[in-house]
Amino acid sequence: MTEFSSLPLKQELINACSALGFEKPTPIQARAIPALIESSSDLVALAGTGTGKTAAFGLPMLHKLDPDSRTIQALVLSPTRELCCQISADLKNFAKELPGVRIVPVYGGASMGTQIRDLKRNPQIVVATPGRLIDHLERGNIDLTNLATLVLDEADEMLSMGFREELETIIAGTSGEKQTCLFSATMPRDIRSIISSYLNDPQEISVPKEHQDTGKVDHRYCMVKQHERFETLSRFIARHSDMYGIVFCRTKDQTREIADKLGEAGFAAEAIHGDLSQQQRDYVMQRFRNRIVKILVATDVAARGIDVNDLSHVIHYELPHNAESYVHRSGRTGRAGKEGTSVAIVTPKDGYKVRSLGKRINSEVTKMNVPTGNEILAYHISEFVEEIKNPAPMGDHEREHFSNAVEELNELSKEELIERILYSRFGEQIEYYRSRQDIKGHSEDSGRRGRYDRNDRYDRNERSDRNRGDRGNNRRAGNPRDRRDRGGFDDNRNVDFARVMFPMGSKDGLRKGDLIGLANKVMKGKQFPVGKVMLKTNSATIEVPRDMSAELAKRLDGKVVKEKKKSA
Ligand code: AMP
Repeated sequence: MTEFSSLPLKQELINACSALGFEKPTPIQARAIPALIESSSDLVALAGTGTGKTAAFGLPMLHKLDPDSRTIQALVLSPTRELCCQISADLKNFAKELPGVRIVPVYGGASMGTQIRDLKRNPQIVVATPGRLIDHLERGNIDLTNLATLVLDEADEMLSMGFREELETIIAGTSGEKQTCLFSATMPRDIRSIISSYLNDPQEISVPKEHQDTGKVDHRYCMVKQHERFETLSRFIARHSDMYGIVFCRTKDQTREIADKLGEAGFAAEAIHGDLSQQQRDYVMQRFRNRIVKILVATDVAARGIDVNDLSHVIHYELPHNAESYVHRSGRTGRAGKEGTSVAIVTPKDGYKVRSLGKRINSEVTKMNVPTGNEILAYHISEFVEEIKNPAPMGDHEREHFSNAVEELNELSKEELIERILYSRFGEQIEYYRSRQDIKGHSEDSGRRGRYDRNDRYDRNERSDRNRGDRGNNRRAGNPRDRRDRGGFDDNRNVDFARVMFPMGSKDGLRKGDLIGLANKVMKGKQFPVGKVMLKTNSATIEVPRDMSAELAKRLDGKVVKEKKKSA
């Protein structure tokens, strides 16, 4: 296997890699570094997150840089602020022993003034998000005419975020002499079209399958009924108490609802979605990085650029609309040589989709059972026993606090004492699982409905729904009226709903998902189907089964709205 020392890199860069603990180049580095240094051809690399791609383009870029020239020689475009900061920090680490190299990140949501000041210090490398870079170009803060290297990082993400026009404007404003490198985890058609329009006879490299990240990810799925999704998720998290991961949802309302419900169930979970301000997002991310929050509930868009290694799990609360998103989601775990697990919670109608997914990622997606109550309890009890057997060191100070208790409990036999401690710790949990049925795995429907196929982004099921006009639109995930998003009941047609009005509305910051979450909360875990949820400026209404509407109204401090008896 290649060593860093055998790569045509300056000794200063090799030293920096070894200071960072990089022992050997990753496969993409072993290929891209010599290719970029020894030739001036453009390059296309099929490589996802966690493959070491930043060093793959960053080290050659720094190797070729002229620190004495104070013009912008290299530009890296990245889809998100997080990734932009991450790349800039990585490049600074690689350049530790190269005096005079200046790297400036520019991204949206941050002060223009500070960035202008940084740009005036004549950096040689700029790492930017496309929108903010255009702002700087338009104001004349950046000159790209001497650019020697242009990197489009996570190009597929940039396109799917709608940055095509910006990319074209930026590329058009650069010199024709530059070396362009495009890194992308997937190669959909629109990426191919960028390559053929803007790259000049590029060398193409990809990481051999066995080195791709997906190889380190154990892909699994649980097949359950629609209304069992949340219980499945919470059982899975309960069974893996060391889980540090992301739960992916399709809509932001769903992220809020799931994070709230997980919080109520005692898990350290928080939602991250497009409605958070940059400050709120940074706060959540900081808590996640510090592992105060162990579970992030995110939409695909909000999770872009989250650069946290060491995630043990990625959970798909629902499968995404396309296989590409599945690859991106799952690529968040199993990074930097670690192992990870990707779990999809699916319903029987997704069976064919799961199988076609396995073919697309070239890896088996294994079915697994939902942990039973007994399994979870056995796991927690044995974890507790281990903790007792191997406690953290205890000092005299702690012992002092226990002395009275030791005396008082002295009269109990050892067995009694153990039983009572365990009961005090696990009694409630035992009761919880005793009152609930375990979730049996289900078999898939026999039909071939919904699948990921080779090129298209949408599965057949989605497409046929969309073709059904309004009705189809309402059924799409993401629309709160979709019954799949409304408390998870399969069929509400025969439910006699009554409408409860709540004296708060959008003006008070209320959202539809909040109202469902609130109703669930005040009904203390009672399962019920939810009909229409309507949000007005000063009020909101939620349809719930008639026989519980009065109780809900009372608990919500709202009122039952008189209406004709109806079947939704
Ligand atoms: P990237 O794909 O560039 O985001 O890198 C993913 C992670 O792998 C980062 O934490 C890097 O610091 C780490 N990394 C990159 N190259 C190597 C290497 N050759 N050996 C060990 N870790 C690496």
